[in-house]
Amino acid sequence: MIHEFDALVIGAGGAGLFAALEAGKRSRTAVFSKVHAVRSHTGAAQGGISAALGNVEEDKPEWHAFDTVKGGDYLVDQAAALMLAEEAVHAVYDLENRGLPFNRTSEGRIDQRRFGGHTRNFGEAAVRRSCYAADRTGHMILQTLYQQCIKHDVTFYDEFQVIDVILDGKTCGGIVAVELATGDIHTFTARATLFATGGFGRMFKITSNAYANTGDGPAVLARRGVPLEDMEFFQFHPTGIQGMGILISEAVRGEGGILRNRTDERFMVHYAPTLLDLAPRDMVSRAVISEIKLGNGIRGDKRIDDYVYLDATGIGKETLNNKLPDISSFCRTYLGIDPADSKIPVQPTAHYAMGGIPTDVHGRVRCDGEGNFYDGLYAAGECACVSVHGANRLGTNSLLDLVVFGKRAGIHLAEFVRQADRPDVKSDAAVAAKNKIAVLCRGNGRKRPRGSDLTEKMQRIMMEDIGVYRNEPAMERAVAALNELREDYKNIRVGDTSKSFNTDLLEVLELENLLDLSLITAVSAKNRKESRGAHSREDYPNRDDANWLKHTLAHLEDNTVRLSYMDVDTSRWAPKARKY
Ligand SMILES: Cc1cc2nc3c(=O)[nH]c(=O)nc-3n(C[C@H](O)[C@H](O)[C@H](O)COP(=O)(O)OP(=O)(O)OC[C@H]3O[C@@H](n4cnc5c(N)ncnc54)[C@H](O)[C@@H]3O)c2cc1C
Repeated sequence: MIHEFDALVIGAGGAGLFAALEAGKRSRTAVFSKVHAVRSHTGAAQGGISAALGNVEEDKPEWHAFDTVKGGDYLVDQAAALMLAEEAVHAVYDLENRGLPFNRTSEGRIDQRRFGGHTRNFGEAAVRRSCYAADRTGHMILQTLYQQCIKHDVTFYDEFQVIDVILDGKTCGGIVAVELATGDIHTFTARATLFATGGFGRMFKITSNAYANTGDGPAVLARRGVPLEDMEFFQFHPTGIQGMGILISEAVRGEGGILRNRTDERFMVHYAPTLLDLAPRDMVSRAVISEIKLGNGIRGDKRIDDYVYLDATGIGKETLNNKLPDISSFCRTYLGIDPADSKIPVQPTAHYAMGGIPTDVHGRVRCDGEGNFYDGLYAAGECACVSVHGANRLGTNSLLDLVVFGKRAGIHLAEFVRQADRPDVKSDAAVAAKNKIAVLCRGNGRKRPRGSDLTEKMQRIMMEDIGVYRNEPAMERAVAALNELREDYKNIRVGDTSKSFNTDLLEVLELENLLDLSLITAVSAKNRKESRGAHSREDYPNRDDANWLKHTLAHLEDNTVRLSYMDVDTSRWAPKARKY
């Protein structure tokens, strides 16, 4: 089945919906989501969205941009970061005008709270910059944008899983998708296509990410020759529920929560004397692992699954109930404790992909590091790399990224669609997709149980060898093991061959994506011989600006990953040592 639109948006999280709103006003736009739109991971975002509104204390977009650059360990493109911080103020009021119910101060203004790495006056002290709707900020953003899309007659294809892209040379002509209810393969053609498929935390064993976060967009594009940027930088959030990874928002520390080791010591005094528990996430995650390695974890046996405590007992019942109701309920449901009375056992959890599909500030996808772009191909949100997060994202800057760059991409895409002719592209994507599924369902491969043990192995390798701390032998081991798993994948065969809602097949397709992205991440990490932001090497503990102040571009070529580089925009602030 072939369908024609002006524009396609793959993904119905915050980035996809904002782009669709802008594109939909100006062109015939279809949005695809493999889950129902409002079940996108944006709905799980808790803590807030940053903007220097200055509602509670003095603040400036320039301070916000500086914090973003420094937080990202100077791998951030600085003009893009300034744009993010400057457009944040309008973006938040825009969301408010569209109906988003933010928490308010007693004077009726949007309330703001502290978050890690956000400071006043270039690092003096923590500042209140995060706007929030209790601990359901992402949920509110998603509901608000979805309602606006319905109002503006955007067409939704819910429960359609995109499995390939139509790329002919440097021109994008659409996508190929499976309709989950029927198993039918559909081709959608358009003048422009935007990928907003979110993150890929499911590469790791312990993660805060939803099951749907399997990096389908970046993987599909990488297999068709699109480079991926800075994939070695994957953020671990310091406070996932121990053993489960479910996120306990940084908002808990923003409201006064404190990290403690087994002797009840506030250990962050040793690692970030000024910002303490509100230092950026890469530093806090390293501090937690260091405490565990020192034998200061709760069990004290230095094991990888050891943990520390997040102490929210000083926050008080009323604030917990009013400002952190979901977090309190998670603690009751998953741990059987009330955070007002008991400390929460936490450990670092794989959380956010700083790297992804390389774009400019209009969401146009780059084909190299020399300023060339694909025609009609766009990306926004977590799957994209603008790059405003550099080597480490600050909390609350992702929701902001979705809104600012989702919108910008939607506007540029709509303008492109207005001017461009329908592309005459030749592609084997639809036939290739059908063949691939036929081979997986009927091929000669060995049958594997549901879910497959390959997933488990991949997640363990990534957690242990490409985790918070890295070193050459571990990464070498990981690259070899991931290559073996990719070989094994070729023999996989899906047990269930039914057409309707064949989740077995869909999971196997997602596994291929995760395996490809894991390999790209491991190779990019092994190559970068320095420590910067979330990429922390025991064998190269220092940042090395002379050799490594550059973006990585990774090109997947069958069984190898070729690397090239791109300059970082440091036009505003010269890189300095990071102290907090
Ligand atoms: C638990 C948690 C809490 C967070 N809290 C915060 C916070 O407080 N503040 C903050 O700034 N950031 C936060 N983040 C990060 C932020 O929420 C995410 O980075 C952001 O929501 C990603 O949005 P997105 O639009 O890029 O993608 P998502 O919201 O993940 O949406 C992806 C979309 O793509 C679709 N999709 C994917 N693959 C396919 C496919 N093959 N075919 C069709 N559709 C597909 C999905 O169905 C979905 O609609 C949090 C993240 C997590 C996991």
